[in-house]
Amino acid sequence: MRDTLVIHYDEIALKGRNRSAFEDHLVRGVQNITSDLGPVAVQKIYGRMLVRAKEADLGVSRLAARIALLPGVRYVLEGCETSQDLDAIFGAVEVALPPQEALRTFGVRAKRGDKSYPLRSSEIERRVGAHVLERRQWDVDLTNPDFWVRIEVVNGRGLVCTTRHEGPGGLPTGASGRGIVLLSGGIDSPVAAWMMMTRGLRLSGLHFHSAPYTNQRSQEKVRDLARHLVRFQSRFELTMIPFADPIQQAIVTLAPQKYRVILYRRFMLRLAARAAAAAKASCVVTGEALGQVASQTVENMATVEATSSLPVLRPLVGMGKASIIDVARRIGTFDTSIEPHDDCCSYLMPRSPATRSNPDELDEVERVFDVTALVEETWANRKSEVLRLADLR
Ligand code: ATP
Ligand code: MG
Repeated sequence: MRDTLVIHYDEIALKGRNRSAFEDHLVRGVQNITSDLGPVAVQKIYGRMLVRAKEADLGVSRLAARIALLPGVRYVLEGCETSQDLDAIFGAVEVALPPQEALRTFGVRAKRGDKSYPLRSSEIERRVGAHVLERRQWDVDLTNPDFWVRIEVVNGRGLVCTTRHEGPGGLPTGASGRGIVLLSGGIDSPVAAWMMMTRGLRLSGLHFHSAPYTNQRSQEKVRDLARHLVRFQSRFELTMIPFADPIQQAIVTLAPQKYRVILYRRFMLRLAARAAAAAKASCVVTGEALGQVASQTVENMATVEATSSLPVLRPLVGMGKASIIDVARRIGTFDTSIEPHDDCCSYLMPRSPATRSNPDELDEVERVFDVTALVEETWANRKSEVLRLADLR
């Protein structure tokens, strides 16, 4: 009877004195990500967490699939708890074994969290393996068996597990504070968001749209991407910022064409700073990668970043498109990202954008604008929404 999940976490284990704060972030993450399924009990034990459904009809596999997406989780095992007594472990193993015909090979792995336990891990593996061989005519395969039996002896209990779900690893949500991600409808920014989420940031999203000059579908697409991101932090606040009027209007009428994209980006960052202050966030995350498009040169990044008092984190900066796409597929955002959409920046794109620039030059270009008034007016026109697990895609 599989009724228990064993969560193994990643770098939390390395955090010394902060360990318990990190574990608390993960406990909250587990409670939040399962909250719409039913109540669960989470228990911290040595180097692991145990999760159980409080209501019998809530299957642990559903819980495990959810929990395995959480930042900080290295892997989740489905199984059951027994005493640490070897006979009790044998009994649980027997119950967990599939019928003879279901498979051909098996392997046993044991971990002894408790070094005072009289048997070493290798000895537990040998004895459990022998016990299985008395009941099933399977071959032992310790590299890629049809079926793994995973035994853990920890804190006076035995855990007998069979199914393993891989997690993303990293740090649990909230352990590194809050950030604002600039979420376009493309491939890159959801990947950047996920990468920083797995470094412990709790993110809110900001999207700039050019309605009514671009169609409604492009905003719906960003909402779809945000619904994917909900799976990693349970709740995701998305703010839509109308960018066409007055900011893009002002840029298009008053500034030289070649600076348009840099100016758009500088205003985006100013609005991100505004959003960060409102959300108590301390950094901005973007999906920029060095040299990917004309606006993403080192010089332009510096010119854009000069408007920001907050650090701009660009987790994809050194990645090529193919590896970014691999991650997008893995986290499930790729198919949504490649749907056609109108981007606010392809509207009114210059024919030959500046690839070199510096902050002084742009400060000079911006003298014709009332920057503060443009930012404040635009910020006042924002629309925020909160996406929750019920909106999951
Ligand atoms: P993406 O796949 O994320 O759209 P991209 O290769 O199209 O990236 P750019 O359009 O130059 O690159 O954008 C670089 C980054 O700037 C994006 O990853 C995103 O973080 C931010 N960004 C661009 N456009 C928008 C927008 N309309 N709303 C919010 N953020 C944006
Ligand atoms: Mg884009």
